[in-house]
Amino acid sequence: MPFVSIALDGPSGAGKSTLARRLAEELGYLYVDTGAIYRTVGLWVRRNGADPKSEPAVSALLSGLQVGLRVEADGVQHMYLNGEDVTGQIREPEISMYASAVSALPAVRAFLLEMQRELARTRNVVMDGRDIGTVVLPEATVKVFLTAAPEVRARRRWLELQARGNTDSYEQVLADVMRRDEQDMNRAIAPLRPAADAVRLDTSKLDLEESGKALLRIVKEKLI
Ligand code: C5P
Repeated sequence: MPFVSIALDGPSGAGKSTLARRLAEELGYLYVDTGAIYRTVGLWVRRNGADPKSEPAVSALLSGLQVGLRVEADGVQHMYLNGEDVTGQIREPEISMYASAVSALPAVRAFLLEMQRELARTRNVVMDGRDIGTVVLPEATVKVFLTAAPEVRARRRWLELQARGNTDSYEQVLADVMRRDEQDMNRAIAPLRPAADAVRLDTSKLDLEESGKALLRIVKEKLI
């Protein structure tokens, strides 16, 4: 692969997106948040009132869906659903569950695979997700699997949601995190698991600065 690709996988709340964005900034690479792509599909399915676990129902909706991704001047990755900017809407907790459900469907993963690979073909990227090192970019230059204890991840997500005005309780957020982990790790296709050649980084006891430094150290070691 002529370009450098850094695959950052792990469960929700491990700090992936913040760390991936910072790392990309530091290295001057494009940051691709693949969870946002699955969320866009999830939003489309909810808008159509379909069951996100039904492969026939969701498959039938894919032909009417165009997913667009553009990094705007503010440096934020904006998501477009048939031309409409849905960057804010896809962050609703309900859409997390829709994204997790549709992402277990082979038709959805196949639909999005090429789009993700194409992004890494023409530039250096930091891509975060669940199966980047195992399926999307098996030849990635660097693979890191980020983890943290479920309680730590739930607390981080809860604080993030609170800052956005959401009133869900910590217990509710923890239950959601555990349900999504269970769904993501136990699905038949592209389950969440570290690639054999991934470096694991547990951020349970690290703050954001420390996690960022540890990640940069791993990446630099591999790139030299
Ligand atoms: O990362 P984020 O929490 O935004 O992802 C939403 C959902 O999309 C995850 O729970 C996961 O089920 C799914 N996903 C996936 N593969 C990826 C990225 C996200 O299955 N590469």
